[in-house]
Order: sequence, then structure tokens, then C-alpha cells
Amino acid sequence: MKPVKLLRRDLDAMFKHAKSEYPSESCGVIIGDLDDPAKNRVRPCANIQNKLKEKYPDTYERGADTGYFMDPKDVRLAFEDANSMGLEVIGFYHSHPDHDAYWSDEDHKAAMWAGTDEPSFPEASNVVISIKEGEVKDVAIFTWNADEKSFVKSGI
Ligand SMILES: [Zn+2]
Repeated sequence: MKPVKLLRRDLDAMFKHAKSEYPSESCGVIIGDLDDPAKNRVRPCANIQNKLKEKYPDTYERGADTGYFMDPKDVRLAFEDANSMGLEVIGFYHSHPDHDAYWSDEDHKAAMWAGTDEPSFPEASNVVISIKEGEVKDVAIFTWNADEKSFVKSGI
């Protein structure tokens, strides 16, 4: 699938969010138009991973330092924004505090319909930001490759 084109403005919005959440993971939605990056907008979402871990420790073993769960309310708002602005949900992003910008097994699982080998959003790009000691070090985009049945790294 075609990776999202990110303008400096949108990268900066994601980097700022990653810094403000560090050493927890930040996460959010990118709404926009794959053919017109000027229309893209970053919609930061709250990471409720710690709340889930507290409430359901058997199901959510990771804390927000190594995991994220986007607040469904924020995700819904992002989808509503996209709808009302005539845009699409074209991507998701999250940060890896003190880790590289790689696509983890956990990321793969989160991007798939549970128990299937089908991605929930095959058209969406997944942006991963590496942030170490509070500074953004790297960013990578992963898009679905239907032939390989996996997410592959695209150039930014
Ligand atoms: Zn990840």
C-alpha cells in the first residue's frame, strides 16, 4: 500500500507528542488525503495502557512505557473529524521510548483483526518514532504488503 507522505509540520506534531509523553509511549491517528499531504492532520490520542494494566492486569501485562492503547474516545473523535472534513483515516503513529523505530510483534498483533491474518486498516500507514533520552532519534513508516502478508518498511 502507498505510504503516507508526511509534511514537516505533521512530523513535528508527532515528535512533540512523543516528547511530551516520554518515557511513556505516545500514540495517535493521522487523518488526511493520500494524494494531498497538505490536507493531513495529526490527531494525538491518550495512551490508556496504564489504566488498562491497573484494571485488567492479567490481560494487559505491559505498562505505557512499552505499550499503548489509544483512548477509544479520542479515536472516535479522529474518525468523526475525518468524516466531517471529507478526509480519511490514513495512518496511525506511536513512539518507542528508548527503542529503535522497528515494527514489533506486538505492533503486528495490534494492527490485525484479532486471530486473523488480515489487517484492520490495510490502507493505513503506521508511523513508529524512536525517542531516546527524550530526543527523537528515528522515524519509520510501515505499510501492509498483501503478497508478503506483513507490514514492510517504507521510505519517509
Ligand atoms: Zn511499537
